[in-house]
Amino acid sequence: MNEQTLSMRLERVAAHVPAGARLADIGSDHGYLPVALMRRGAITAAVAGEVAMTPFRSAERTVRENGLTPQITVRLADGLAAIEPEDGITAISICGMGGETIRDILDSGKARLNGQERLILQPNGGEQPLRQWLMENGYRIHYEELLRENRFDYEIIIAERDGPVTYTAEELYFGPLQMQARSPAFLFKWQRLLRQKQKNLTLLARAQQAVPEEKAQDIARQARWITELLA
Ligand code: SAM
Repeated sequence: MNEQTLSMRLERVAAHVPAGARLADIGSDHGYLPVALMRRGAITAAVAGEVAMTPFRSAERTVRENGLTPQITVRLADGLAAIEPEDGITAISICGMGGETIRDILDSGKARLNGQERLILQPNGGEQPLRQWLMENGYRIHYEELLRENRFDYEIIIAERDGPVTYTAEELYFGPLQMQARSPAFLFKWQRLLRQKQKNLTLLARAQQAVPEEKAQDIARQARWITELLA
């Protein structure tokens, strides 16, 4: 993967960035996403935010080597602190980290959101707490996608603040739109996870030491939801 050839995961993220957007890519690492989009003329301007020095330098280098310094600003900053009001950001991508981390970035940076930005989120696990945050903060999920690459399942969630919206506990767990669409990738993921939960329940039942009842009940509830979904 590089700034010319994105991974399938980042290519699908790129597809949801509106044409002509002013993009903030938070946790940009190498900066491939904003640089690829700018090289294609798909966006107008971008901010690449990074909290860690090595990826920050890597993003700076990618931007510089592609001659995009005037259009892409690279900032060393924690989460949404990379965004300044004068950037006029219209889309924010936060990809390749846990859903809880993405949620925490959004929550602690709330003051930097003007509510007009499209959020393009690609959590690696922790989708449920992320969807919960979106719902509680007036974000409607407009699109969801699940793809498998290199034996990993990746979810992409597109949200905009045009709520209020209410999702059920199951919708927060599975994804409200994915539950409706029931794509082959989605069913495959949950068949695999059901087998995993059932195995965990068997191991818990056989465990010598006492297992917190709450934990066993939680896994059993998830297994029941998945069984109902797949029925
Ligand atoms: N977004 C790229 C992608 O999807 O390929 C890079 C993903 S990389 C696994 C996660 C990056 O997020 C790391 O470079 C890490 O330093 C950065 N990161 C984690 N927490 C962050 C935060 N609070 N603010 C900015 N960057 C953060």
